[in-house]
Amino acid sequence: MDPRTNMQQDYDLDTLAVRAGTARSQFNEHSEALYLTSSFVFESAAQAAARFSGEEEGNVYSRFTNPTVTAMQQRLAALEGGEACVATSSGMSAIMATVMALMSAGEHIVASRGLFGATQQLFTNILSRFGIRTDFVPATDLAAYEAAIRPETRLIFVETPSNPLTELVDIAALAQIARRRGVRLVVDNCFCTPALQRPLSMGADLVVHSATKYLDGQGRIIGGAVVGAKPELEEIFRFLRTAGPSLSPFNAWVILKGLETLRIRMQAQSATALELARWLEGHGRVARVHYPGLPSHPQHALAMRQQASGGAIVSFEVRGGREDAWRVVDNCRLLSITANLGDTKTTITHPASTTHGRISPEAREAAGIREGLLRVAVGLESFNDLRDDLAQGLSQI
Ligand SMILES: *Cc1c(COP(=O)(O)O)cnc(C)c1O
Repeated sequence: MDPRTNMQQDYDLDTLAVRAGTARSQFNEHSEALYLTSSFVFESAAQAAARFSGEEEGNVYSRFTNPTVTAMQQRLAALEGGEACVATSSGMSAIMATVMALMSAGEHIVASRGLFGATQQLFTNILSRFGIRTDFVPATDLAAYEAAIRPETRLIFVETPSNPLTELVDIAALAQIARRRGVRLVVDNCFCTPALQRPLSMGADLVVHSATKYLDGQGRIIGGAVVGAKPELEEIFRFLRTAGPSLSPFNAWVILKGLETLRIRMQAQSATALELARWLEGHGRVARVHYPGLPSHPQHALAMRQQASGGAIVSFEVRGGREDAWRVVDNCRLLSITANLGDTKTTITHPASTTHGRISPEAREAAGIREGLLRVAVGLESFNDLRDDLAQGLSQI
């Protein structure tokens, strides 16, 4: 086994983050090279035939494989503790590829309620047209997942913590149910990343990522990935190389660089998020704070068992309604008004009018996404500056 490319048995996460997946060219470059090429040249007609038939391993065309993408896949697989990884053009194409590769018409998904908006739309409005049905259950209710499983169920799909209310799914307990019922468990690990949570080590079968968020971590690219065991990943790879939502080498290279600082970024951003959550909890204009790292979070004990820290997303409800929440947003000078997350720059979002704006007010209220709710995705600025900015915004209501 090549110690340069397959290191997951021997090294800690911090070491894997900067070393795993390294494969040098004839120039022996120290930093990973970027191979901006769509295709690869063969030495003979016979070699071309052998590469195309799969008899000989090697690159053919960058929709299939590319050395920079391969390096990124190996590094992320090592961090998640998975056998294999397939990179995709976005987080959504990672989810689409997983479903399209592993499921057929007539089959069924059980998903946690409160999934990322596009994932809900994919499951509800698009996959349903191809005969794949999804039932949504409350994220925290283990019995509800089990009760929703039917003979044709193939996947349980969850996100933990959820957006924006930071509800947690007990991954180990749900993995046991999934295993007992012969269903695969897929975890969208976007919010925690392997720096804080490793679902495969808790029994999940597959991890999907939006690399757009913390894996790059600097708001520069769109990308995604699926990590898990080789047989499933081979199926997903076969879908991807044919259907085509592959990751560009340039974006893979950006993600490779992002992964090197993943742990220190997640640690720093989580530490600031915890400080902000504590401060918000004591603020007179704040009615409630949702943050898994606070003892007041209903699943705090599970969070501390399952995650290395509370993560970098803090949601809070201001006293008042939409107007008051908007006033806070509009009076922040430092925080960016954007729905994105996982950036070094802190962002603030009003979920009820943006990410969850298309849901009916009644359904939104039932889901706990109130008009006064704000979500902050904490970046790398100082706690003092972020606190002062939010204090300034909150002073206007
Ligand atoms: C952003 C996001 C996605 C989708 O990822 P894209 O890279 O935008 O396609 C999926 N799941 C979660 C939890 C996300 O935050």
